[in-house]
Amino acid sequence: MDKFLVIWRKLIETEWSAMRSEVDREVQGKKQSLVNNQDLGSMFNEPTLNQRVVDNRLGEERAVFRSWDNQGITQLECTVCNITVNGMKTMQSHMNGKKHLIRLEEFTVIEGRSDCDPVKAMVDMVPERSILSRLLDKYMVGPVIGLEYVVEVLVGRADPEYKCALCRISSSIFDLMEHLISAQHRLAYMDKFFPQASRKFLSVPNKALWTVSTFEFLDTVVNRIEAKFARAQPRVVASIVVWDKEKFKIADEIEQGKHARECPGFSFENLPDPFQGTFPMNNSGTSVRN
Ligand SMILES: [Zn+2]
Ligand SMILES: [Zn+2]
Repeated sequence: MDKFLVIWRKLIETEWSAMRSEVDREVQGKKQSLVNNQDLGSMFNEPTLNQRVVDNRLGEERAVFRSWDNQGITQLECTVCNITVNGMKTMQSHMNGKKHLIRLEEFTVIEGRSDCDPVKAMVDMVPERSILSRLLDKYMVGPVIGLEYVVEVLVGRADPEYKCALCRISSSIFDLMEHLISAQHRLAYMDKFFPQASRKFLSVPNKALWTVSTFEFLDTVVNRIEAKFARAQPRVVASIVVWDKEKFKIADEIEQGKHARECPGFSFENLPDPFQGTFPMNNSGTSVRN
């Protein structure tokens, strides 16, 4: 198994940062379009930011607030008072200030959409394909099953976190492959969808008793599954906040989704015992196992 991990880590070393910047750019572009649409209420979770005013003299309607990004610093403008500040905190104290409120009285105020939901706005801030999918395109040395259970959770400027919704574990990209090719993950998947095969392996649940050939045998079974059904696509979630809010819904959707599974003409009914000859037989002819 070690050679697969070495290859995986080498891949991360050579490909990761380029793939990440590519995805970062894609997500930034989507965020920018939110800025362009100026649904500031959703962006900052502050409905007041969607206020519009009608200039009573000119009869013109316009947004009270505008926002843009200046080298990573959020700029907010109050078009009524004609001032620009750095960051939402400063703007918040401005818009609650006396001076601003008096100015506002000179206009007819139209309250903007108040159904602002930053999580809802955030949900779509994902790339078309996960970074993991891109990386897996280059990882062809061994089979990987159960990828539909893997969720890539974006973490802003840091590397994403990976969740396996099947085994309920979190991982970094670095350690993810170790999980995906582990007997634990493979058997959890097979137990759901290829129970005839998993049962034969799980007759010795203690993997400390497995020999190298047992692991290699499992590898060939997984290989057959991948060859038949191809790899599934992992999901991408826009942020930890979205994940925390939607993880049960996401897990549910994954369960209801498409999976590789046993079907007529593709079952493991006749799979030989993976432990044949490994354990001494007792009188009833079944192996003695712990
Ligand atoms: Zn103002
Ligand atoms: Zn897993």
